[in-house]
Amino acid sequence: MERLCLKIRGIVQGVGFRPFVHKLVRRCGLSGYIKNTSSGVELELEGERPALERFVALLPEQAPVLAVIESMEASYSPELRGYKGFEIRQSQREEFRNTLISPDIGICEDCLRELRDPRDRRYRYPFINCTNCGPRFTIIKDIPYDRAKTSMAGFPMCPDCDREYYDIENRRYHAQPDCCASCGPRVFYLDGAGKEHPGDGIELARAALKAGKIVAVKGLGGMHLACRCDDEALVRKLRRRKQRDEKPFALMCRDVDCVRRICRLSEAEEKILTGFRRPIVLLEKRQPGLDYLSENGYLGVMLPYTPLHYLLFGDDLDMLVMTSANLSDMPILFKNAEALEKLQGIADGFLLHDREIQTRCDDSLCWVLEGREYPARRSRGYVPFPLRMEGTLQSILACGAEQKASFCLSKGSYVFPSQHIGDLKNMETLENYTRQIAHFKRLFDIEPTLAACDLHPDYMSTEYAQSLGLPLVPVQHHHAHLAACMADNGLEGEVIGLVWDGTGYGTDGTAWGGECLTGGYEAFQRFGHILPMALPGGDRAAKEIDRLAFSLLYAAGCDTSSIPGAETYRAMLAAGLNCPLSSGMGRLFDGVAAILGIKTRCSYEGQGAILLEAAAKDDGGTYPILLSGRPLVFDWREMIRAIVLDQQQGLDAGIIAARFMNTLVEMAVRMAVAAREDTGLNRVCLSGGSFQNMYIMHRLPDRLRDEGFKVYHHSRVSTNDEGIALGQLMIANAKWKGKENVSCRTPETD
Ligand code: ZN
Ligand code: ZN
Ligand code: FE
Repeated sequence: MERLCLKIRGIVQGVGFRPFVHKLVRRCGLSGYIKNTSSGVELELEGERPALERFVALLPEQAPVLAVIESMEASYSPELRGYKGFEIRQSQREEFRNTLISPDIGICEDCLRELRDPRDRRYRYPFINCTNCGPRFTIIKDIPYDRAKTSMAGFPMCPDCDREYYDIENRRYHAQPDCCASCGPRVFYLDGAGKEHPGDGIELARAALKAGKIVAVKGLGGMHLACRCDDEALVRKLRRRKQRDEKPFALMCRDVDCVRRICRLSEAEEKILTGFRRPIVLLEKRQPGLDYLSENGYLGVMLPYTPLHYLLFGDDLDMLVMTSANLSDMPILFKNAEALEKLQGIADGFLLHDREIQTRCDDSLCWVLEGREYPARRSRGYVPFPLRMEGTLQSILACGAEQKASFCLSKGSYVFPSQHIGDLKNMETLENYTRQIAHFKRLFDIEPTLAACDLHPDYMSTEYAQSLGLPLVPVQHHHAHLAACMADNGLEGEVIGLVWDGTGYGTDGTAWGGECLTGGYEAFQRFGHILPMALPGGDRAAKEIDRLAFSLLYAAGCDTSSIPGAETYRAMLAAGLNCPLSSGMGRLFDGVAAILGIKTRCSYEGQGAILLEAAAKDDGGTYPILLSGRPLVFDWREMIRAIVLDQQQGLDAGIIAARFMNTLVEMAVRMAVAAREDTGLNRVCLSGGSFQNMYIMHRLPDRLRDEGFKVYHHSRVSTNDEGIALGQLMIANAKWKGKENVSCRTPETD
């Protein structure tokens, strides 16, 4: 007999780790205890040496899906303490208890099997769940996390469920949302007029969907609008009703085989698509077409993630449009009454249930890049799981950006990024933002002593941050992007940051966005950027992108006569009237898309750039790259002239689009090389919304590696502005270090 002391570091609290350990201890025939510590858990076990070693080997292999084991430190000793049985010891320090709350988890294999088993007591019960799966974050009202403080409070457990709940050997041990048909929530179907129909709600919804109806379906974090996706006229009807003319719709497919029929699916993509987080994965279309669903080369696809979804598909529905039920820029609808009211005339029917959603949480959205998630929206299935940083952070609230708002809170070594919030210019969204901040503060018991925000004086998040009465660190937008990418990859020190996006407020008061920065959390330098362009009409030019085409052509000395309104824009430029300057990469993309005639008016953000990417046909060509000065400026005028020349010679717009992007890739590499020559830095971080361009992301990292760089991109938070809060937080933490107790003044900006 020997005694094993095992220290496990990582995210192992609040993820069903202790019941799991309990079972494994029993299986290995050991005795001892487990307790939570500040960095994870600590165990002491006694038994025969081979049994102890078996335990150590099995533990990481079989740990719960949500557990993140960073390290395990095992030591053996012959001194026995004589433990009997197994004990879950209370933590000595209150603060380390119940700090983590699980995200919502897609239905597990065991529950799915029971759902389909006619002999199981939960056969076809749409709310089946267990310790390993089911709703969490979206049903929690308050902490501590137990049933009374969730949406399940109104559903007292029946004796059968109760027995399972208290049986540590049972899969439903301490599963707060555990329930069955006799004690849990129920589904029901209402017609378009809001009248409930008697009968099996799911079968009624299925019949309506098959008959070509648009049905609102209540999910985990909000309502979806669902309809058949094989009927183009029907999908167009949904577009009209939702006033969403062109933006792609997400699909839900019954299984992986259905996905394969319409999309290419790599092994890594399949793994993430079928994983327990169940994000929408952006997959390459197998063949062109299905433009009425998505006008670009990708389809956003997810698999069913609740038992209700599985029942809805049954055996005979393959694919459904599943788009968030919201009106234009408003937050997703999540309450029954509100959905019935606001979706009047949009949905022909409603599949609802009486388990309340406490917290809105949209579907997450990602590409798969180099084997990992490349997030565009980090929400359901991921939130509120924290990131763990090295060392101890101050308690900070980082308020994020504006259009793709999110926030971040820190405590100890954990950072808690919020879910996708949306555009704060919308009143309801702003209200949800402040409510979610309050919710997170309560859930994780964080009282921030410092706040961070964007440098932009007009962002609603900046205004909010200023109202808090906390010391405030304003952070330059692209510096925050850079820091977000560093933190995402656990980097310290200084790096080269290629930060490309549509726009962000620069330290000189102009709009930036085609940036090469150097620096770290404490500070940055603007090493290079693209030549600023004029935006005739300011913000209007982001939608009416033929204005940008004019601006680029005019600056390059090319003929602008083909552009409607050219005379007006020329006069505006000459008079310097409402023509702010921007070095935003997104604007350059949009302008070129408009020059090529790919798109001249955008109905959603980034549309020009997205369609330009979709049109690309790579012939390996590039255009001239003019780089000069310090800061190093990329003068795109020579490139624009070459594009116009290609166009005049009748070259395919897709080939020109590809040559344009190839040019940007090479330009980025040259900027990074120049930055390395000046600074000696060799790590490159890629961040910003323009890197949601997969044509670039499938080329630039490799090209940089060819030149000997170490390349980092996002995999845990979004590369777009949603990821910014994390960077703001890390920067505020670094800048405020050691100054916490000095004064309450606002530190100088960059
Ligand atoms: Zn389960
Ligand atoms: Zn029950
Ligand atoms: Fe940005």
